[in-house]
Amino acid sequence: PSREDITYFGAGPALLPTDVLETAAASLLNYKDTGLGIAEHSHRSELATNIINEAKADLASYLDIPEDYEVLFMQGGGTGEFSATAYNLVGAWVERKKKAIFGDLKADEVNDPTLMQQLKTTIDKELKLDYIITGGWSQKAAAEAARLLGPEHVNVVADARQINDGKFGKIPDESTWKLSEDAAMVYYCDNETVDGVEFPAFPKCLEPKADGSGPIVVADMSSNILSRRVPVRNFSAIFFGAQKNLGSTGVTVVIIKKDLLPPKLQQPSASLMRKLALPIPPIILQYEIIAKNNSLYNTLSIFDVYVAGQVLKKLLNTYPDKAAGQEAVSAKKAQLIYGALEAHPDVYKIVPDKAVRSRMNICFRVTKGGDVDGSERAFLKESTAQGLTGLKGHRSVGGIRASSYNSIPMKGAEALAQFVEEFAKA
Ligand code: PLP
Repeated sequence: PSREDITYFGAGPALLPTDVLETAAASLLNYKDTGLGIAEHSHRSELATNIINEAKADLASYLDIPEDYEVLFMQGGGTGEFSATAYNLVGAWVERKKKAIFGDLKADEVNDPTLMQQLKTTIDKELKLDYIITGGWSQKAAAEAARLLGPEHVNVVADARQINDGKFGKIPDESTWKLSEDAAMVYYCDNETVDGVEFPAFPKCLEPKADGSGPIVVADMSSNILSRRVPVRNFSAIFFGAQKNLGSTGVTVVIIKKDLLPPKLQQPSASLMRKLALPIPPIILQYEIIAKNNSLYNTLSIFDVYVAGQVLKKLLNTYPDKAAGQEAVSAKKAQLIYGALEAHPDVYKIVPDKAVRSRMNICFRVTKGGDVDGSERAFLKESTAQGLTGLKGHRSVGGIRASSYNSIPMKGAEALAQFVEEFAKA
């Protein structure tokens, strides 16, 4: 089959717009009449810097990112960010505590044994990373923090499985969340790709106070970024891999508040972290290093940044009201598909609770005639025959998952809704 014959609902890497791919493909052979392809140009060239700066500016425009935030292009994927967020936010917390105990002393002057003991005790007793676990990805992020720092430093604020028979599919009520007093960060995954659970809005209890103070909130938006407006001001950091809504696999974006970067904040020195028996981040995961070098500390895949930049340009050209425009379309597509599923409760069972179901990853079971396995096999076989592909659920949970990322056109969502309808009636 050709591209035109298929609507691919895979969970990521996801479908990219054909015109973006055509431009990108031409750029691989000869970028801007230089005779060299984009992947062959130096990442230190002016041309590369322009690509980075343009993508940053377009992302900032599309998401309305305030001036006091920085955009970083990193490598290592969402998984790399599970580690990076833990390392960097622990570093920031230790630095704050060090200042409170030692004042403005430099790292190598931090020698007073009594004060050092005080800092160690503070870390042992008070260092907590708060995780809200609503699906497989936040669970993995929490597990990584426990691996790096020790489970005693990880506080599970809420675990959705505890209110849903051991399965994901709900978000526990905020009144039951057990937040730490002064957490290094409160972490959540805005859209759980595997489980089809999405936060309908920013959690009320994490909102900053009128004076701007409040918890340090970090979110994984790998699978729903660019699909709706984001209250960036409420976050200290947001990260996302490119391969769902932004571009091709290979770059990861971090939007980070400048408060967490020099000159406002310097990560503790490696020697201090060693003395405190805390893990020292690999240099490539240190936000301040990436920020200082405008994302070019080492060789970055400029091609992947370019693809992301082209996707952003296309979004900006399509939606005069930017993320709000895509938000309306994403909601409409999700309504179409969920609506078709809801119309046949005897045939389909939507996995997550209605209040928290994802607009991006629509997870359901086909229960027709009681034979779930057989019905799902038939559903996949017949949908594939109609060019609706990539619908198999994640191997860990089974079922069907329709990922309706930004690149799925309205007519793709309509075709799936129609198929859902026809399969139910057949
Ligand atoms: N976070 C979310 C929400 C994801 O969907 C994924 C991957 O699908 C990841 C993190 C991990 O990303 P990566 O494979 O880039 O490490």
